[in-house]
Amino acid sequence: MKHKSVVLTVVFGCIAAIAAPSAFAQEVKVTPLGSHDGELCPQDRALIFEDPNGTRILFDAGRTVAGPTDPRLGKIDVILVTHMHGDHVGNAHSKAPNSGTCESPDMSVSAMPNSNSVNIAVAKKSKIVTGSEMPPFFAAKLAANGGDPKDSILARFGGSVSVGGVAIATVHALHSNGLDPDYIGGELGKSMKAAGIAGDVGQATGYVLTFSNGLVVHLSGDTGITADQEKVVRGHYNAKLVVMNIGGIFTTGPKEAAYVVNELVKPNAVIPSHVNEVATKGGKVVPGSKTDTFLKAVKVPAHLPLSGKTMSFDNAGKCVAGC
Ligand SMILES: [Zn+2]
Repeated sequence: MKHKSVVLTVVFGCIAAIAAPSAFAQEVKVTPLGSHDGELCPQDRALIFEDPNGTRILFDAGRTVAGPTDPRLGKIDVILVTHMHGDHVGNAHSKAPNSGTCESPDMSVSAMPNSNSVNIAVAKKSKIVTGSEMPPFFAAKLAANGGDPKDSILARFGGSVSVGGVAIATVHALHSNGLDPDYIGGELGKSMKAAGIAGDVGQATGYVLTFSNGLVVHLSGDTGITADQEKVVRGHYNAKLVVMNIGGIFTTGPKEAAYVVNELVKPNAVIPSHVNEVATKGGKVVPGSKTDTFLKAVKVPAHLPLSGKTMSFDNAGKCVAGC
């Protein structure tokens, strides 16, 4: 009998050892902070990524995060900004989540001349990690608002920086990146505005994030189709999950975005973003919408970023909960 119990102990010990990894969640959590709970609305860009180690990253705060006091934010370690357009850096924002309608969300609170991203960074003592020529702009804004200019961190094309255990790299995005002269202000800002000239803060970017569980996520940013999506994002980084901007006009539309996903990046799953339309009603995709077209055109699982609904992804980009 004693021999049998030793065998049983060994067997159960082995089962416990095999089961152990799932006992410690190794998933990356993704929570959309859109304008309206449970829906995907025209202005929605913001996503929070939470590493298994607890590091929380806010991506493109835009206008739907209701300033630094938005109760959905919690701790924010890192803020990412793909480029300086108002719907990404946040030139204005809603007074509270669910203000206005999904079709026409409230954006009545001006964040000029700081931006929603800077206001949140100052309040939360977050790092702002950007590429191109954007870090000096954010450093100056942080300094002017009581923040620490050293919290503006450069991740220019090529290498990566590690912040809170997450490796952050920027990649090429085929877009524009003019800085609205209202951020500059004074006589210079006025003259530039009158002449119709934007400030130069370098190229727009996308990101590649490598989380501590090994998951590689590509955030397309506003972009057209680029060869880098195949050669760099797939070829070098081998991204398994993609957040793909699909709205058209300013970026790839649903068909172009589906081509990028199916033929260039080839991830295991995709989250459509920057839809610039009422994409859902009651949390279900609106038939005939651009988002509907995209969902039907992609060959991998596509997960709608419904505001407030947390999705969990394993290291292969598979959604294991909340999708
Ligand atoms: Zn945009």
